[in-house]
Amino acid sequence: MKLEKYSFGIGDRFGREGSAQLAAIIKAKEHGLNITPVWNKSNREHTIIGTTPQDTRREADKAVSAAAWKDPYFVDADHIGLNNVDVFIESSDFFTLDVADFIGQSADESNVQAFIEKHKKYIGSLAIPGIDGALEITEEQVQAIAGKFLLAIKEAGKVYRHIEAAKGAGNFVTEVSMDETNEPQTPVEMLFIIGAIADEGIPAQTIAPKFSGRFNKGVDYVGDVAKFAKEFEQDIAVVAFAAREFGLSENLKLSVHSGSDKFSIYGPIADTLKKFDAGLHLKTAGTTWLEELIGLAMAGGDGLAIAREVYAKSVSRIDELCAPYAAVIDIDRAKLPTPEAVNRWDEEAFASALRHNLSCERYDRNLRQLLHVAYKVAAEMGERYFNALAKYEDIIARNVTENIYDRHIKPIFMGTR
Ligand SMILES: [Zn+2]
Repeated sequence: MKLEKYSFGIGDRFGREGSAQLAAIIKAKEHGLNITPVWNKSNREHTIIGTTPQDTRREADKAVSAAAWKDPYFVDADHIGLNNVDVFIESSDFFTLDVADFIGQSADESNVQAFIEKHKKYIGSLAIPGIDGALEITEEQVQAIAGKFLLAIKEAGKVYRHIEAAKGAGNFVTEVSMDETNEPQTPVEMLFIIGAIADEGIPAQTIAPKFSGRFNKGVDYVGDVAKFAKEFEQDIAVVAFAAREFGLSENLKLSVHSGSDKFSIYGPIADTLKKFDAGLHLKTAGTTWLEELIGLAMAGGDGLAIAREVYAKSVSRIDELCAPYAAVIDIDRAKLPTPEAVNRWDEEAFASALRHNLSCERYDRNLRQLLHVAYKVAAEMGERYFNALAKYEDIIARNVTENIYDRHIKPIFMGTR
């Protein structure tokens, strides 16, 4: 199974917006741009909501068949390891092997020595097309990299072989992710990590590094954009070089675990993809659920009432809701509007505070981040919430499609700003 050049990871907390999400991909295709949709959902999300990987599969299949979509699509077991892969095996055909927890655990000395021996020819001055100036690589550096990453990649190998034994080689797409770590990987580290992935026999098609800066959920990038741009370009260059050198799939590409809505780096990403004629997998978070809330608010009446109620409950349960996401949110609690104030907001006031439109002065990044992690509150409303989604399906779908197409696909894959 080969992943196409451009692919887009979409999350959907409640599994009701698959058709509206796919509509954005179809709109891109109508404009001559082929993007493969990949529905992704992590174990954490499933656990909090009480859904299963089979639900995501059903949603994807249903959306695809309703739209008579004939191109490829995938269901991604996002951030899995040996301890939780089994529930995903049947329903997924894309697996993101998360090795972050094993980075820094030292590998056997004999493995490290064998790795250095095997990749000795890269020690010294190494020119990589697309990177200015040669990389200077020392044996100590390779040793340190092997010490830090080799065990993690061997762990990924175990998970890969576990899935392969169940599904058969070639029947799924493999990604290796290292984004949930503290430090970004350097280009030299990336080179040898990809070498280790190849040595381990993992036919990775995407690799998700950690980039510098903060990738908070559902809000814009926080960090040095110029630094990110340079890092991203170097990573793209290394991935292309390493794929050839180590005989990995020619379409090996970067996967950016964006956490959604990193508008300020979409420009540099688009420029680099164009410059290198490179592919990309862009993974977004479950911000589709925020479009549900926006749609409900815009609908007014009982829709707006539900949106206000979710906010009020999320303020009263803020510690509990934020805890699983502590590392990827930055909420200035003192600046959150009070539930009493929000209860006086009309349709437009609520929607514009939540909608991620940076040029709108009513946009509120604190409220947006809190609501992003508050999906548990809606899950607990159960049928009441789902009935409202059904009742206001049209207005919600419009928001979902427009968000993916206008705010993400256009700036990244079409370079429209
Ligand atoms: Zn990630």
